[in-house]
This record gives sequence, C-alpha cells and structure tokens, in this order.
Amino acid sequence: MAHITRYTRTITLSYTASLANHLKNQRLDQARLIFDKIPSPSLHLYTKMIAGYTRNDRLCDALKLFDRMSVRDVVSWNSMIKGCLDCGNFGMATRLFDEMPEKNVISWTTMVHGYLKFGRVELAQRLFLDMQVKDVAAWNAMVHGYFENGRVEEGVRLFEEMPVRDVISWTSMIGGLDLNGKSEEALFVFKKMLRSGVEPTWSTFACVLSACAHAVEFNLGVQVHGHVVKLGCFFHEFISVSLITFYANCMKIEHAHKIFNETLIKNVVKWTALLTGYVWNNKHQDALRVFGDMTKMGVLPNQSTFSITLNACCGLEALDKGKEIHTMAIKLGLETDVFVGNSLVVMYTECGNVNSAVAVFRNINEKDIVSWNSIIVGSAQHGFGLWALIFFNQMIRTGVDPDEITFTGLLSACSRSGMLLKGRCFFEYISRYKSNVLRVQHYACMVDILGRCGKLDEAEELVRYMPVKANSMIWLALLSACRVHSNLEVAERAAKHILDLEPNCSSAYVLLSNIYASAGRWADVSRMRVKMKQGGLVKQPGSSWVVLRGKKHEFLSADRSHPLSERIYEKLDWLGKKLKEFGHVPDKKFALHDVEDEQKEEMLSFHSERLAIAFGLVSTVEGSTLTVMKNLRVCGDCHSVIKLMSKIVGRKIIVRDSGRFHHFKNGICSCSDYCDNNLFDPVKKRKSYNHVKGSETEALMETEQVVPDRHKAGVARWRKLRKMEKKGGNWGLKLKLEYAIVLCFRNVAAATTALFFLGNARAKLK
Ligand SMILES: [Zn+2]
Ligand SMILES: [Zn+2]
Repeated sequence: MAHITRYTRTITLSYTASLANHLKNQRLDQARLIFDKIPSPSLHLYTKMIAGYTRNDRLCDALKLFDRMSVRDVVSWNSMIKGCLDCGNFGMATRLFDEMPEKNVISWTTMVHGYLKFGRVELAQRLFLDMQVKDVAAWNAMVHGYFENGRVEEGVRLFEEMPVRDVISWTSMIGGLDLNGKSEEALFVFKKMLRSGVEPTWSTFACVLSACAHAVEFNLGVQVHGHVVKLGCFFHEFISVSLITFYANCMKIEHAHKIFNETLIKNVVKWTALLTGYVWNNKHQDALRVFGDMTKMGVLPNQSTFSITLNACCGLEALDKGKEIHTMAIKLGLETDVFVGNSLVVMYTECGNVNSAVAVFRNINEKDIVSWNSIIVGSAQHGFGLWALIFFNQMIRTGVDPDEITFTGLLSACSRSGMLLKGRCFFEYISRYKSNVLRVQHYACMVDILGRCGKLDEAEELVRYMPVKANSMIWLALLSACRVHSNLEVAERAAKHILDLEPNCSSAYVLLSNIYASAGRWADVSRMRVKMKQGGLVKQPGSSWVVLRGKKHEFLSADRSHPLSERIYEKLDWLGKKLKEFGHVPDKKFALHDVEDEQKEEMLSFHSERLAIAFGLVSTVEGSTLTVMKNLRVCGDCHSVIKLMSKIVGRKIIVRDSGRFHHFKNGICSCSDYCDNNLFDPVKKRKSYNHVKGSETEALMETEQVVPDRHKAGVARWRKLRKMEKKGGNWGLKLKLEYAIVLCFRNVAAATTALFFLGNARAKLK
C-alpha cells in the first residue's frame, strides 16, 4: 500500500513539472492533457491551470474548469476573478465577486483594481469605502487608479489621507504626477520621500528619471544617474531606457548614446529610445543611421520603431528612405497596423506621394481618428479637396466622431480647392453644433476661404466680429487674400492690425510691399524696405531643395555654388529655348523689383525652384517623378513655367511650397491654377460653377472657358471611361472613373453630377 502511494506521488510530481513547463511555454492543450491524467489534482494545480487559460485569453475554458472544482479556496476564487478582469469580462468578475463566500482583502483589492482599470472610478470608490479592512496595497491600488484615470486632485488627497505609506505608495504618487504632466510636483514629492526616510527602489528611480526628462531637470537627473550606478541597478531594463530618454530630452544626445553603448543587452526598446532621442534632437540623418545599425545587428523593429523612423524620413523629406522602411514593414506584416499605417500616411503625404498615402490608408486594419485626420489633412495639403470630402463622408459613416483637427483639414481643403459653399456649410455647422471644438485656426481657414474667393469685405467682417480677439495669423490670411485681389485698402488695414500685434512681423511687410509693387507704387515699396531695415528685419530668401538618396541639395535664387552648376544652367538654357518655342512670355509682375524689364526676365528665370528642378532633371532617371520643396510660395511665372516644363520633359513634377503641394503633369497643375500667386480670379470661376445645373454636358461646357486645357483633357478622359463603363465595365474601371472625376475637374458641381452617375452605375451592378 505504502509503495503505491509513493508511486502515485512520484507520478504526480513528474506530471506537475511537465505541466508547469507546458504552461510556461504557452502550450495550453498539452498542459490540459497532462492535467487530465493527474488522478486527483490539488487546488494549487487547478488554480495554476486556470491562470494559464486566462493569461492566454481563454476565459471560457478557465470558467469550465472552475465550475468542475468541488472545493475552492479563497486563492482560486481570487485567481478566477482576476482572470475575468484581465480578459475584460467585467460582468462575470462582478458576479463571481458577489457569489464568493468569504472574501479577503486581496479579493477586494483585485476588484477595486479591476474597476479602475476599466475607468469605473465611482464603483471603485464605493467598493473601497465598503472595505472593512484596508491594507496598504488597497490604498495604493486606489491612489494609482486615480492617477491612471487622470483624477489628479483626488489621487493627491487620498495619498495625504493614507495611514501608512510604503515605497510603492510614494512611487505611485511620483509616477502618477509625472504621467499627468505635473513632473515638477513629482520631483518635489521625491525629495519629500527621501526626507521621510523611505528607501527608493529601482522603479522609483525610473519614475524620477522620467520626471526629470519631462521637467528638463538636468542636475537632479545626473545625481539620480550616479545613485543608480552606486546601487547597482544601472543595468535594469527600465532604468537604462529612462536614462537614454532623460539625456536625449535634455539635448545631450551624445550622453544618451554613451548610456546605450554601456548597456549589456541592446533590445528593440533601447534602440527605439535612442532613435526617438535623435529625432527629438532634430538629428534625422543620425536617426536613420541608428535604424540601419539596429537592423544590421538583427534586431527586429516594432511598431514604435517604425513610427519614429518614418518621422525621421518626414523630417528629411526622404521619400526613397521612407519607401525602404515601408517595404520592411510589409515584410514584417506591420503595414496594416494602425500605428505604423498612420505614420506611413503622414510620411507619404509630407514627401509628396499622396497616392501611396491613400493606398496605405485603405489597408489599415482598425482606423482611428488619427488615421482619418491624417488622410483628410493630407488630401487638403495636396489640393485634392474632393478627396478630403469623400474621406470625411466615409469617416462619419464608420461612426468616428470628428475633432478640431478634422475640421481644420476640411476647411483648408475647401480653401485650397476654392469650395466656398462647402466651406461656409462646414463653418456654420461647427459654430452651431460643435462649438466646443471651434478654434481660432478655424476662423483663419474661413477668412482664407472667403479671401481667396474675393469676398474680402465679408472676411474682414468675420474677423471683426469674432468672439475672441483675432491674432496675427488671421490678419495675415486676410492680407495674403488682399494680395491675390490687389486690394490695397483692406490690405493696409490688415497690415496695421498685424503690426500692432506683432511689430516685427516681416511677412506683413513683405506682403504689403509686394502689393505696392504689383500696383507699381515703388515709393511705398522703398518705404517698406526702409522700415524693415530700421526694424532689423530681413526678408527670408527663397530657397528650394531636392532630396536624393538621403542627401539634401539646396538652391538659392541664381545660385552657382552647386558642383553640378554648369550642367544645371545648361539645362535651364535648353529649357528656356523650349519655353519660348511653346510661346511662353514671362510675367514680369512677379519679379517685384524696380528694375528694367530685361533684368526682370533674367531674375525670374533663375528663381530657386527652377534651379532645383533643373538639378533634379540632370541627376535622376528619365521618366521618374521629381519632387521639389520650397520654403516660400511658388511665384505665378514659375508656376506656369513648371507646367510647361512637365510637358516638355514628359515627367511628373511635384512642388511643395509653403502653402500646398502642386502636382504638375502634361502641362497641367493639380491646383488648376487655384493658388493665390496667379492673380487668377476665383470669383469668376465660382460664378460659372454656381449656376451649373441641367445636363452634365452643359455643366462641362460651362467650365470650358475657365480652365481650358485641364477641361479638355478631363472631359476626353472621362467620356472615354464612361463609354467603356457603359459597355459593362468592372470595378477597377469604376475606381478609375472616380479618380478621373476627382483629378480632372476642379469643378465641384460637375464632379458631383459625375459621382451621381457613378452611383447609379454601381446600383445597377448590385
Ligand atoms: Zn518664381
Ligand atoms: Zn499649382
């Protein structure tokens, strides 16, 4: 008999060992097979198996096993309740807690913790008050929960009321204050803690370092650094990451890199912390180098790594690098992740490739508000106003609530595409129903919309009767509209307001002086120049650049410093001849200097964007898309020249100026000349849109006088696609049709009609 018992015990022991092993490696089904073989499993084994299930999100199996238990102790109850909370089944946890025969302080604390985790602060409070016996862990859970839920004052009050405080209480308090943006107070509490004689642990130090990083308390941080080295917890994961972040935040990126080099295990978290540090310090090139080193070491990037590296690409406007990183994300299956996807969308729109941005956006699995905002703002930046509206519609249909950024994106889409009516509707809607998100930038956008469409009086009125005082940004929007419409009267008033608010605003002087210049009032122009000189203000020189293989090639006007200068000017010469053949006459209005006509022409033809384009043409593959960035707005003459250039060289040229993106292709720009540099009168254009009704042909004919070249190409393409579609097209064709409508017509009314037809076609297909 005795040896049988001994035998059973040995068997059980070996089973228990392999069960633990399977559970540790998440082989739950194998673990269960072993569990079922054990003759009469102990309570401890049951609890272990249940915890294994809940840790792997298999709550059903856990509950079934729990039901099978004939005897349960308080530990198994607690573990089951905790499991329900971990799996997010809040109702089941509450039910079990109510059914539980004897609750100990851990059961109560687990529930309090669970309520707080789900943001049910009131329920947690009630439970906490009901507790007969409260140990320090329960108090800590409550304090921690208050901070996690952003209820700082209550957290602080409860901490003050605590009868006994241990190191966890102090650490929760420090971490909580830091989490809620009160880093300086957190450091104050840390000093109080030291005075009270409580010994800090490594996790206290990690919290303190984070607070030092946020409050940029360099000296204290360095002291803490010394302490952790003395205490021997320097190599602790959290400590080294916090140190890297701390030094990077205090602009000591070299120190941060040194800390990184000193750590033993360089995992993805540490690499990402270092990368983030470089990006924060605006050292994008170095950040990309660090990323390269990391992948060379065989460390796989995670979502945060991708996101921050894409940020670096944005900072460098390095589309080719961004594409490389995109490819890597696809290989790791992270392209559809919302975090990575959002960063990709921003990278592509910022670097000028809006089509890829849309493609990435469509692939994001669970789109959040950031995804929608990024694509709406991106479309607006590129002047694809209709896209922005379509995305907004989709966003509403998916039930995502728009916020202030969404509305800023929409309004700027309206302003960049000259959609006055839509803009008015949105603005009305925000002021009436969403006044809680109405911000000063929405007013600026609305002023911009009205101003661009020539409604200068209405714009001025809006500024005067705003509920808050207008800032200089709003007056500047009005002033630039005055420039488009050569309205000196309003311009002078607007400029006065700006200079009252911001006496050193050089943009105001420059804009006003440009308005005087195009009106030929040279005396006023020189008066402005003198004023600027007296104020020590310098006009920002126009510069354009191209990023090639991660290197930035920058050009000023008439710049001859680039090594390829000779070839660039040869190319410009050649282009100049071709332009003349195409009948281009330089528009000297844009030279804006009081000089002879011939000289003006000379100045125009060496504007920085032309040099950058010529450089791009001589140093990239024929036929590829060329992307050029500029710090100021592209002038009207360059705009029409670049249009012709795109036709001459047969390449797509994308130019990002300070206002927006221009996509030049085949002699047409995506903004369809709807930029304020062209003295193009949007009012006339609007009029022709507004009374477009009747048949779609009429609608299309109407636009013919407005944008002839664009219109012809658009109509031809649209008709061809419609014919093909009528013959029984497919979905790909439908999409192309939609694309054609959006791309080829600036005309909203015509596009709406076209979309209506498309809708019919779709309905028939269904
Ligand atoms: Zn120019
Ligand atoms: Zn344009």
